[in-house]
Amino acid sequence: MGTVDTFKRAITDLFVMGKKYYALFFLQSLARYSLPFIGFIYMTRIVAALTNDNWSLLPQYIAQYLIILLFLQLISAFLQPLVNNESSLFTRIMFAMPNKKMLSMQYQYAESSEVREQLEMINRNMQSSQSSLPIIHVRIRNIIPKIITVIWGLILLFPLFSINRGQLPEEFWWLHPALILSGFIVLLAITISIQIKTSKISSKSFAEMMGKLKHFNAMFSYEDTILEDVQSGKEIRLYDLSKKMTSTIDSESIYVRQLITANYKRFRKIYLSTASLFQTMNYMIYAYIGILVLVGTLPVAMIIQLSGALSQMVSALPDFIQQTMMIFSSPEDLKEFYAFMDLPNEEVVGSLPVEKRLDNEYEFDIRNLSFAYPGSEELVLKNISETFEVGKKYAIVGENGSGKTTFIKLLTRLYEPTTGTIKMNKIDTKKYDLREYFNLFGVVFQDYHLVGFSLGQNISVTPTYDKDRVMMTLDKVGLGEFVRNLPKQLDTYLGTEFDDSGVNVSGGQEQKLAIARSLYKDAPVMILDEPTAALDPLTEFEIYQNFDNLVEDKTAFYISHRLSSSKFCDEILVFDKGEIIQRGTHQDLVKEEGKYQELWSAQAQYYQ
Ligand code: ADP
Repeated sequence: MGTVDTFKRAITDLFVMGKKYYALFFLQSLARYSLPFIGFIYMTRIVAALTNDNWSLLPQYIAQYLIILLFLQLISAFLQPLVNNESSLFTRIMFAMPNKKMLSMQYQYAESSEVREQLEMINRNMQSSQSSLPIIHVRIRNIIPKIITVIWGLILLFPLFSINRGQLPEEFWWLHPALILSGFIVLLAITISIQIKTSKISSKSFAEMMGKLKHFNAMFSYEDTILEDVQSGKEIRLYDLSKKMTSTIDSESIYVRQLITANYKRFRKIYLSTASLFQTMNYMIYAYIGILVLVGTLPVAMIIQLSGALSQMVSALPDFIQQTMMIFSSPEDLKEFYAFMDLPNEEVVGSLPVEKRLDNEYEFDIRNLSFAYPGSEELVLKNISETFEVGKKYAIVGENGSGKTTFIKLLTRLYEPTTGTIKMNKIDTKKYDLREYFNLFGVVFQDYHLVGFSLGQNISVTPTYDKDRVMMTLDKVGLGEFVRNLPKQLDTYLGTEFDDSGVNVSGGQEQKLAIARSLYKDAPVMILDEPTAALDPLTEFEIYQNFDNLVEDKTAFYISHRLSSSKFCDEILVFDKGEIIQRGTHQDLVKEEGKYQELWSAQAQYYQ
């Protein structure tokens, strides 16, 4: 996408997302920024009435002026809270865009470290780049009142340019508006072009400075999160990290200040000279107005309207140009943002509904499945052909890196096969609607994530939920008593981030919560992906056995590089370097010479 198209898209996106906000803000600005001009118009009329001895008109003018004034003030005050509400909603929507995108994009991108780094940078740019949506929005918000002011200014200055030749005394022919107007336009064009050029240079240099500061901003926000994080408080104290951190923050602050001052000094001269140029033009027009009044072409009262309009315009115009130029200063940042937002979304594949079966009869047939992670040539899974029957318990074992988790990611369709097919009930899984297909699985991943919501919401993953069923599930995993004894029970927040009365739970309890969440989903296929890696082998054995009781007659997959879990499974699949090299029951496989026997004897000491 070209630079112009990128900016067009950004501005369109902003107006589409924030149409309500901009409509309200425009109305309010119209009311607020029209006030001085209404004042100039009525002051002119009142003074004209006074100088022409037209006293009878005065009460009428004064009344009209006061009524309009009151009306505009009331509109502005009425709109203020609406504008504030819309503004905070709109800002939240904008800041949520990249994170939301992360959830909707194809999983392969969401998992890639480059995309994660991109996300981090985009989130940072949201606050610091001149060409990020929230900052362009701020600029537009600053520009709207300026546009209103400039339009009002032009309307009120109109009498100045509509004088005709006949109104001028003979010897003042050179005051002819056509002549003055051309002069005025030439001067204005020169000043504006200088202004645009300096704005360009200064916004480029500002963008360069922000580029230099990016690293520091990243460090600041990183250090901020560490300082805010209650958990890391332990290390900060024990290793006395705070001294080091505050001293780096101090030296960075000095550097940042130096950079900002140098940047300011560089442009001080240009700012001052453009400001003087504007001011000179301003004086010239005042002089012109003065002369026209003196020679009797314009009424004295007109001085108020013309000079008022002029002073408002002269202060609005440079700001208008400056703010507009700032928007276009970092096109690369905006392009990066849209490259990220345009990463392909997940929903594009599959439309077939997944048959809802009360008997949970879901069968999987895998044929010649091979898989390489996107962007890599290396096959992580090689030519796998297996069938999995309903209601059976499968153990997937093998050393670290042998492809166990990747296999589950393919089975659950977080990734699609590079070659080969996975069929569910005889139909290629690619054809199923992805959301519905996801619902077939209750998975506890090894890197499971719980969120800072209430305990009940963590289990149900919905804002409202069936309390009894959640409690029943918690009873099953052995957390029922613990939760009942909390003052707010299921409404207790996990962690203290959002609520002081939240609980911090232990690693083991967290694990149980993650298991409860997968059970509550009541999906026909349950998967436990080595969530116990950090636990000792005996505890792991207990968790697996307990989970096995809990999944009842559902199809289940248990992944582990330890073999304690495999004994009670119907079948064991042994993964080695991306291949399934053995399949069978524990009894058969321990007798058979091969990888399983090898792993079993190496680990057997733990289980006796
Ligand atoms: P296991 O679960 O058996 O420990 P994995 O399935 O996690 O093994 O990993 C298999 C191989 O795939 C490993 O070599 C690992 O480095 C690689 N791998 C895992 N995830 C990714 C990823 N997102 N991108 C690229 N390679 C990956």
